[in-house]
Amino acid sequence: MTERLYYEDSKLREFTASLVEQRAGERGLAVRLDRTAFYPTSGGQPHDTGTLNGHVVSDVWVDEGGEVWHLLPQTDSLGEIGAAVRGEIDWARRFDHMQQHSGQHMLSAAFVKSHRAKTIGFHLGADYSTIDLELPHLSWEAAAQVEDAVNQAVWEDLPLTVRFVTPEELPHIPLRKPPQVKEHVRVVWIGEYDVTACGGTHVSRTGEIGLIKITGLEHYKGGMRVTFHCGIRALRHYRTTHQLLRQASQSLSVGAAEVPQAVARLQADLKRTGRELHKLQAELAQVEAERLWESASEIAGKRVLYAHWADRPFAVARGMASYLQGKPRTALCFAVTEAKGTKLVCARSNDLPELNAAVILRDVAATLGGRGGGSPAMAQGGAGPHAAAEILVALQQSLRRATES
Ligand SMILES: [Zn+2]
Repeated sequence: MTERLYYEDSKLREFTASLVEQRAGERGLAVRLDRTAFYPTSGGQPHDTGTLNGHVVSDVWVDEGGEVWHLLPQTDSLGEIGAAVRGEIDWARRFDHMQQHSGQHMLSAAFVKSHRAKTIGFHLGADYSTIDLELPHLSWEAAAQVEDAVNQAVWEDLPLTVRFVTPEELPHIPLRKPPQVKEHVRVVWIGEYDVTACGGTHVSRTGEIGLIKITGLEHYKGGMRVTFHCGIRALRHYRTTHQLLRQASQSLSVGAAEVPQAVARLQADLKRTGRELHKLQAELAQVEAERLWESASEIAGKRVLYAHWADRPFAVARGMASYLQGKPRTALCFAVTEAKGTKLVCARSNDLPELNAAVILRDVAATLGGRGGGSPAMAQGGAGPHAAAEILVALQQSLRRATES
């Protein structure tokens, strides 16, 4: 079986090995060596990347027999079987994974100590990591206390000890949770803070983790999902968050600490302005409705009004129509052009029971290829998009037909 060099030395970046097998496939060349420092995707930790004889390694996995395979998309062969192969892993990626993975052990241990909460899931993603806790609820205040405790342990710079234990030893080792394998159990001690069975790669001392920051809490499948950032990711997260806050504080012209109040003030101002605007629009619409009524033509003793707008909400036109229903002997049709087409409203005053607004509206809609309906006093409808002149002619003709008789 492939000798896994990272078991003994998780800081080994370069190594030499012998070529054991190579298979060309659709994704590239799959390579098996007698030994490797490349970590294959397993136990929640993503695989390493790097090079073999200078060729990029894009994927590393374990087959059912426990052999480690390396995928090289850019070469046909690594040479004869038995040939020496020089490997180099992408250390920045690996060290990042070591910080997140070791940090996860500590954070999981901290939640057992503080809340007796077991970790039942771990995911190490490209941008952030999560653990799933058997814990029905966790507040941000409680999470902050766990952060304090776990970072205190990080800064104590505890040593990590990693070794395979014998089946006889196993029952005497106080593991945080039962091991997933029965044989070749590898145990990771973090000082006396945590003892876990794990096949992953870890830092040598907790100080290398730097910082553990919880950045997300959400309820998930009856428990809590905790998002966290360790080491370089915590720094990057801080940098991004700080930059966002700085931008917000600059555009609001207030100090960072005053940003929440400034936003609340803006929201309140916006709400008040919106209410005032609404009131003014309603008043303006009434004034405009009055003016329309004054200048309306008279047909057979009735005031006949029609208008078309392309730049106002339909609700305003409808408001004007209902206001004008209070005028004597009045019939009207309004149209508003919106993004999707034309909206229509027809109405008549209560002292004109001989007119039916729904009939007039259906007449307009028929001309414009649309539809609609309503009561004899007021009706609404819609049609596809039309030129303003075409709409005005349709409104005028339908009103004339209805009122002349
Ligand atoms: Zn581990």
